[in-house]
Amino acid sequence: MGKIEELLVNRGLYDSVDISIDDLDELEKYLSKRDYVGNTIDCFCKQCGTNRVFEYATSEIHEETGIMRINIFDDVSGKMRIPKKEETFNSYLNKRYVLTYRCTRDKGHAILFDLIVTDDKIIKIGQYPSVADLVIPEIAKYKSVLGTQYRELSKAVGLFAHGIGIGSFVYLRRIIEKLVFDKYSEVADRISIPSEEFEHQKFDVKIETLKEFLPNILVENKNVYGIVSKGIHELSEDECLEMFPYVRAGIELILDDLLAERERKAKEKMFEKFVAQKTGELRK
Ligand SMILES: [Zn+2]
Repeated sequence: MGKIEELLVNRGLYDSVDISIDDLDELEKYLSKRDYVGNTIDCFCKQCGTNRVFEYATSEIHEETGIMRINIFDDVSGKMRIPKKEETFNSYLNKRYVLTYRCTRDKGHAILFDLIVTDDKIIKIGQYPSVADLVIPEIAKYKSVLGTQYRELSKAVGLFAHGIGIGSFVYLRRIIEKLVFDKYSEVADRISIPSEEFEHQKFDVKIETLKEFLPNILVENKNVYGIVSKGIHELSEDECLEMFPYVRAGIELILDDLLAERERKAKEKMFEKFVAQKTGELRK
């Protein structure tokens, strides 16, 4: 996924990506007014209830961003010739773009983006439906694993969608903590570590203690807890926002594991019950 698509689909409001002349192809693909055939994004469609390909439909380009106007031709004073590529690149800068994409399954399903392009970055200043609207249906399946804590995951996503990085990390950390503490309560009688000792262990040691019972993906990447904690205490809002999609993906992988385990157990139970019942019946 290119950086502009990443900004459109996965990033929250007021998040940005840096651009330089090396990104000209991508700028042309996503921001030029002409109907570019390859300009599609993969995105959750709220109305379809699933991921769809969205196709560029229209754009409105405002020549002024209202926040700055740098005259990029100033230092040239008419003598030096600006290379063609640079001239094209410059033509995309310091403008505001309102883009509409339509679901390829039903043209009535649309998603709108509002972007400001400065001289070195693209900032997302608007989106409808919101990132949270698009992500919430995707995470709804974790309700059965998270129980009441599902609200915390949806809050984390909601905060991220509104450009609040550190706050969203607080919820992500609580989710990891609860997964580990719940697992300890579940298996405490099967391991030889008393609860006072477990409580005093550092978090990565706790994960190590429970390694046979926790999803592998968490055990192998137990540093995620340290990363999230560092985010809460030491990193900037922007750094947390930057990392959020990755940490979220990691937590979803852990939840996917728990979900699969739960489904497997339910199927096993159903199957065993069936075999036991039929065996009994056939004996008669
Ligand atoms: Zn749709």
